[in-house]
Amino acid sequence: MDQHFSASQGASLIRRGLFPTLIYGPVVSRRLGMSLGINPLPLDVKLCSFNCPYCQFGWTDMYVGDVGEAPDEVFPSVGAVGAALEETLEKRVSDGTRLDSITFAGNGEPTLHPEFAELVDVVAAIRDRLVPQVKLSILTCGSTLHHPEVLRALNRLDERQVKLDAGDPETLWAVNLPHPPFDLDRMIAHIPGLTDCILQSMFVQGRVDNTTDEVVAAWIAKVAQIRPLAVQAYTLDRIPADKSLEPAPRARLHAIARRCQETTGVACEVY
Ligand code: SF4
Repeated sequence: MDQHFSASQGASLIRRGLFPTLIYGPVVSRRLGMSLGINPLPLDVKLCSFNCPYCQFGWTDMYVGDVGEAPDEVFPSVGAVGAALEETLEKRVSDGTRLDSITFAGNGEPTLHPEFAELVDVVAAIRDRLVPQVKLSILTCGSTLHHPEVLRALNRLDERQVKLDAGDPETLWAVNLPHPPFDLDRMIAHIPGLTDCILQSMFVQGRVDNTTDEVVAAWIAKVAQIRPLAVQAYTLDRIPADKSLEPAPRARLHAIARRCQETTGVACEVY
């Protein structure tokens, strides 16, 4: 793959924690089981439309607001991802490795890939042929849901996990630092275009705190509006970009989940 990076991005090439391959794992995930990851993003930098201070990959190197803003050549080709997946799955099938899911995630926001829809088609065909029992899923921040082709591609997957960490603009800005012109209400307005979704919500304390009663109330109002299949609440378990952040106490997470479930009727689990 031919990749081009600026000098400032070069400093991050040795950053630890980024996935150096197109396919990684399988990793044991409490939410997705034995999950094989697909990283359709640059291998050496984080490319995302969010810059969450809690991100396990550090601060965002290539901060782009939308599909088409990053040069096409920084992304792996659809053919390269498909070939890497096929090779990995053939090995896993022959050595009998259990797999529960194949998940689009990786070093940032996977739907920013300029050929995301084609990529999903190729991955789905390989899954159908080699491991039809394994579900396809994605972790997304939802920044590209206004693209009809992204929505259609997401609906080809079995499970869509969408990030929602706050319901009010101030806290959303603090906890996700979304690239303008990200607008939460615009994102939510497109969610009915998804077959369904699960919301993933990270709660942290410290310099940024999205666990206060008032902030949680605004978040619950958005959960009620979205009506997801379920909400997954969790907290830090890896070193965040902003080292001053702290994990939310388990008791607080459970109280938030209880309040959300009682108010909205949506199943809310703590991970
Ligand atoms: S959306 Fe995910 S990859 Fe992007 S900055 Fe936030 S946690 Fe990191």
